[in-house]
Amino acid sequence: MAKIPQILLIYTGGTIGMLKDYKTGALKNFNFDKLLKHIPEINQLNCKVKSISFENPIDSSNMNPKSWVKIADIIEKNYEIFDGFVVLHGSDTMSYTSSAISFMFENLTKPVIFTGSQLPIGDLRTDAKENLITSIEIASSQENGLPIISEVCLYFEYKLYRANRTTKINAENFEAFTSPNYQPLAISGVHLNFNKLLISGPKLSNKLKVRKKLNNNIVILKIFPGIIKKVVESILNIPEIEGVVLETYGSGNATTEPWFINLLKKGIQKGIHIVNVTQCESGNVIMGQYETSIALKEIGIINGNDITTESALAKLMYLLGEKIPKKEFKNIFETSLRGEMSEF
Ligand code: ASP
Repeated sequence: MAKIPQILLIYTGGTIGMLKDYKTGALKNFNFDKLLKHIPEINQLNCKVKSISFENPIDSSNMNPKSWVKIADIIEKNYEIFDGFVVLHGSDTMSYTSSAISFMFENLTKPVIFTGSQLPIGDLRTDAKENLITSIEIASSQENGLPIISEVCLYFEYKLYRANRTTKINAENFEAFTSPNYQPLAISGVHLNFNKLLISGPKLSNKLKVRKKLNNNIVILKIFPGIIKKVVESILNIPEIEGVVLETYGSGNATTEPWFINLLKKGIQKGIHIVNVTQCESGNVIMGQYETSIALKEIGIINGNDITTESALAKLMYLLGEKIPKKEFKNIFETSLRGEMSEF
């Protein structure tokens, strides 16, 4: 008889486990054991669930690369013991954390599913129960003794997404996330329907590598009509800055004013890696399609293609942390490493 899958539930914080503070009326984290009491249904699932919690659960607005390493440490330590992992996390920065975890785990062969909720688990109208129960079910779904999912995903409101393709789009609706450039890996309806053509297979022959040296000396620079020279100049002159996610217009276009191009050029010459991503919700960067992106291509800006800003930020931190030599950096960034961008 097949072995019952063992799932580790990792609670980091977020609305899912929050309660209203009776004094301030604000939502704050509460004890994880209480959270599980709200979902006795977990015991009916065809898997064994164990849980572990951050000592001090946090609102995901307080997440940072150190907390990402904390999550990675928990998964790494328990990797051989469990068949799958479900990470409970606040929705606000879930796309950042889950993108980062996707880069930190190379050659993953087990599912890591991030989920959370818009309403606390104790609320009558909560979306937490469905999100949590289906995430556990996905993490324990196997075929021929192998997990169906072996990548880092985000499950929310009936859809399973590749995590490094997601972005939070709504602070009100239960459908809080979208994956603008990659279709969901599974949809939960009467049945749990996996789209096997979109799922990355497990890298069974390669050994798991966990990369924890993240370098956060980076910045997101969103351009806008009227942006002044001093702003761009000051940012590129911060001595610590090693990487920039440059959010441009449309298919990667920006002002052609000489001061702007010259500042970027100087930054690149100094060794700053600048990645072009689009401000649009979907679509991709095509430098050279318009006259307004030719110069960007010529000075050596990295093409972010259809990567999300969250994923570009995580990938920059990861590649800078790995100390990729300057002359290989552009090429490696422009290659899809964990399915985070499309290959055209
Ligand atoms: N502020 C919360 C957090 O990100 C929101 C949520 O969990 O949905 O931790």
